[in-house]
Amino acid sequence: MRILITGGAGYIGSHTLVEVLKAGHAAHVVDNLDNASPVALARVKQLANRDFGFTRADIRDAGAMAALVAETRPEAVIHFAGLKAVGESVADPLGYFDNNVGGSLALLRALRAADCRRFVFSSSATVYGDPDYLPIDESHPRRTTNPYGRSKLQIEGILEDLAASDPSWSIALLRYFNPVGAHASGRIGEDPTGVPNNLMPFIAQVAVGRRPALNVFGTDYPTPDGTGVRDYIHVSDLARAHLAAVDWTAGRAGEGETGVGETGVGETGRGCAAFNLGTGQGTSVLEMARAFGAASGREIAVNLAPRRPGDVAACYADAGRAAVELGWRAELGLAEMCASTWHWQSQNPGGYPDEGAEGAA
Ligand code: NAD
Ligand code: UDP
Repeated sequence: MRILITGGAGYIGSHTLVEVLKAGHAAHVVDNLDNASPVALARVKQLANRDFGFTRADIRDAGAMAALVAETRPEAVIHFAGLKAVGESVADPLGYFDNNVGGSLALLRALRAADCRRFVFSSSATVYGDPDYLPIDESHPRRTTNPYGRSKLQIEGILEDLAASDPSWSIALLRYFNPVGAHASGRIGEDPTGVPNNLMPFIAQVAVGRRPALNVFGTDYPTPDGTGVRDYIHVSDLARAHLAAVDWTAGRAGEGETGVGETGVGETGRGCAAFNLGTGQGTSVLEMARAFGAASGREIAVNLAPRRPGDVAACYADAGRAAVELGWRAELGLAEMCASTWHWQSQNPGGYPDEGAEGAA
């Protein structure tokens, strides 16, 4: 299949690109490289030993999207491109809605005009807000507390309305829990700019000596050890889930599904459906720090700190629908998440090198 990948140079996009190429699909990436390095694309090419197309463009550029879609004629799209820092979204809500919602609209208009109606969207467990119950299934009420989350909710709503307006669309809303880890080669991984907001990259930078200690945000949550609990999912498992979702949009069923043909969907799409992507396992901050210490052989120094405003105590998935309907399950555990992160971080202590050092894609 010809697959267009927006944001394919980023963290999750680059890992998905490897799997898409390994599965034999033809890929084209569009990315403005605002939060990514061209070195990631060059490394994907080496890892997959396959070529792919790349266009440096902003998805908000309607003319560029129309030209790109006309030229590459995608049969399916995986839409990662977006801004994702919660704090930044609070400071600049208009910028976030413009980029995330405006970019999605420009992309969707170009796709509709070109009759490409298979769409996989990067959503987030943030759309569930502070959970009413655990594990969280897809029918849990949706609500959110910040502009980043609201941009995801708005795009989900737009996609639901689009599918309701035209039955030829097949749209998978993939709600990621906490993606972590790196490709087993250690060649690509998460490369945040500045001080990492997220737990795993912060711990990795402590292990490699870039930061003195992990601040553990909150030790008085109603969790077994008092620290926050999340459902961490290996980025390579997440990448495979996108392949399963693309297959789903094309009408190929997961193992437990009935009544759906094995071939293309023809004029009738599958509508819009949401899938939680997680392991179903909760891990606390202190458990993660210990697991990373074991994987890296470095002690992770911790400072016990107050709660971070806006954090929830615990959040983990019921990922049963993805197992039944996509035929996908997470396979990699905490040890692999930590070992692969350490492999990436220790080989690339400063993140990706400058483009000149290795050449671009
Ligand atoms: P990332 O920042 O590494 O990747 C996003 C990519 O999109 C970057 O390469 C960036 O340059 C590109 N991009 C952003 N705006 C663009 C635009 N207007 N035009 C073209 N390219 C643009 O982030 P990631 O962690 O790989 O996340 C990918 C997607 O998954 C995002 O939509 C994010 O909101 C979502 N998501 C991420 C997480 C997470 O914890 N990493 C969790 C849930 C959902
Ligand atoms: N966390 C922490 N120290 C950090 C970063 C995160 O203690 O430097 C905690 C955070 O309070 C939460 C968990 O780690 O309980 C996961 O945080 P992250 O930001 O990675 O994911 P999110 O909160 O968005 O689920």
